[in-house]
This record gives sequence, structure tokens and C-alpha cells, in this order.
Amino acid sequence: MTESEPPLASKDPWLLTPGPLTTSAKTKQAMLHDWGSRDAAFTETNRRVRDRLVAIAGGVGSHVCVPVQGSGTFAVEATLGTLIAKNDKALVLINGAYGSRMAKILDYAGRAYTTLETPEDTPPGLDDLDAALKADAAITHVVCVYCETTSGILNPIAGIARITADNGRRLIIDAMSAFGALPINAAEVPFDALMASSNKCLEGVPGMGFAIIRQSALEKCKGNAHALSLDLYDQWLAMEKNGQWRFTPPTHVICAFDAALEQFDAEGGVEGRNARYAANGKILISGMRELGFETLLADDLQAPIIITFKMPADPKFDFQAFYDALAGRGYVIYPGKLTVAPSFRIGCIGHLDAKVMNGALDAIRETLTEMGVESGAA
Ligand SMILES: *Cc1c(COP(=O)(O)O)cnc(C)c1O
Repeated sequence: MTESEPPLASKDPWLLTPGPLTTSAKTKQAMLHDWGSRDAAFTETNRRVRDRLVAIAGGVGSHVCVPVQGSGTFAVEATLGTLIAKNDKALVLINGAYGSRMAKILDYAGRAYTTLETPEDTPPGLDDLDAALKADAAITHVVCVYCETTSGILNPIAGIARITADNGRRLIIDAMSAFGALPINAAEVPFDALMASSNKCLEGVPGMGFAIIRQSALEKCKGNAHALSLDLYDQWLAMEKNGQWRFTPPTHVICAFDAALEQFDAEGGVEGRNARYAANGKILISGMRELGFETLLADDLQAPIIITFKMPADPKFDFQAFYDALAGRGYVIYPGKLTVAPSFRIGCIGHLDAKVMNGALDAIRETLTEMGVESGAA
């Protein structure tokens, strides 16, 4: 690279996706070293990251953070396998691909479960949950998704937690695309475990998942796990003993995560991040509606994470051409994953602000004109 060339990062596209996400230059810069896994500075960083994550979840004194190498799904699989014992039974609430994935994980692990499924644009009914728990005494755990990224729908986590606790069952939450941007406080919303990753709303780089686990529950999980590398009980015990990971830690990811959490605090924590994402979402939704596009979800079900738009009816609209034209202008969007309707998604999480969202809208407007599409109406 010559002096006059811009740094590589300035040419990167904006990622308006559910992950991997755009990260700040500061976060990327935090990776420009090599650390030994036993290096005191590294183990201190690792401890700080874990402590911060517990604090964000409101779990200080009751919960611990157990990280695991890999993408978010590795943390989900590790948590379900560690916390749900061979004789337990789960009730999985499904309204999208990530709920279905947890059922599949339980299949692989050979754990008993039943499901309560609603369409992708419909949150689970709390009365139905209550009835399902009362009808089956064998159910020990309720497993749910906070923001189902398939559609971007906000599930009623506080209500789910209340009914689960009232029925004396334990709650496990996939909060992957919510944690850091949507509030959750272990003191008010009782859960045994919550899973998330380094690269969603906390804006680190991908490579590490983690679970915030109630310590009193984790202490009883010795021997549960179906896989050594996914045994969060063993991972926790080892890390408590000497501050180190059992197997090669993703050192660069953890140091970038530490820098990302520093910026998270500076932005005002969950409240600050929520405000930026909500503003991003508002700009996007109102701009798209001006162009005729329709959202899948009513505004009161929509989380400020990722927005699903129905595929336009105009025969001149071609999604692949639309996608490619936007990518050419520096904005990467995401295909839909819905069964209820043809759709595509645009994310508002990651290191993005109003300027980026308005830039994306300009690119969309230009692309529609180029394609000869007059309205985005479905
Ligand atoms: C992103 C995400 C995951 C994990 O996906 P990975 O691709 O494994 O990182 C799990 N659940 C939800 C709700 C998600 O949004």
C-alpha cells in the first residue's frame, strides 16, 4: 500500500446484515498485537471482558460469564448441552430459524424436548406457554429467543420469564442479536442462562460466544455436556482456577472485544446503544415506506435490530440485481429467510449511524430508478 492510498478499512462496505457486522477502526486496531495465552496482560483483559458482560446482564453476584471459542451458535450449543441434563426436558419456543436451530441442537445432543411454535410474524402466546407448562410436568427448562433475527421480531421476554418462574421451571434465552441493545436485567427477568456473541450489538469482531449463567445452576452441571470442547462447566471451572482458557483462546477477538466494550460504555451502555439503533431503524423504515416498501411487522413488534421488508410486486424488481447494485455502492443487505412471505432484510446494528442509513437510502433510491421500479409496494 502506498502513502497516498486510503487505508483498506475505508474501502470496506457497510454491513447492513445480522452479522458479521461493521466494527469501528478503534476495535480493529486493538488486534495489532500477538498475545501469549498466559500473558498477565491478556488474562487481565479476559477477566475484565467477562466481568463487564456479567454487569451488562445485571448478574453481578448471581451469574458468571463463561466464554467459548466460535460463532454464536457454538455458545448456544454449549449452553444447552451443559445446562440441560440427560434426564431433563426442554420446551422450545419457536417463531423463526434460531428457535428451530435450538431444537435441532437438542436433537444432536439427544435431549428430550417439545416445542411451542407460532408463525414468524407472531410472538408466542403467554397463556399458551402457561398451559403447556401446566400440561407437562416433565418440562424442566423453557428455551426461547429474545429478538428472533429471522424476522426482527421482539419476543415478550419479561412475560416468558415470569410465567416460567411462576411454574417453577428454568429459563434459557438466546439473546444473540439483542444483548447490549435491548434491556435485560437478571434481577428482574429471572434466567438461568443467556447466550450472546462478540459480534452483534456489542460490536466486537466475530469469533467468541459467551453465556451468562446463574452460578448456583452451573455448579450442578458437572458431567452433563455431550462434548468436551462445549462443556461450559469444565470451561468455567478451569477459568476460575487460573484465569486461562482450556484450549487456545481467540486472543485477538478478546482484545478487540475489550476495546469494543470500552466504546460501548462511552456511548452510554445499553441505553446509548439502543438509542442509536432505534434512530437507525426509524430512518430506515420511514425512508423505505416513502419508497413504497412494506415492513413485515407492525411497529410495536419490531425490534431496532434488523428490519424485514416484503419483496416488491413490480415485475421489474429483481432481488439479486438490487443486492448487487447496492453492494456496488458500498452497502451490503441480506436475503430473507422467511417461510411466511418472500422478503429481504436490512440491519441497523453494528458501527452504523444516521449518515450511513441515509446513504443506504440514497443508494436504494438510485437503484430503483435504474431498475425502472416505481414503487416498492408488495
Ligand atoms: C446471529 C444469531 C445466532 C448465532 O449465529 P452465528 O452465525 O452462529 O453467530 C443465534 N441466534 C440468534 C437469534 C442470532 O441472531
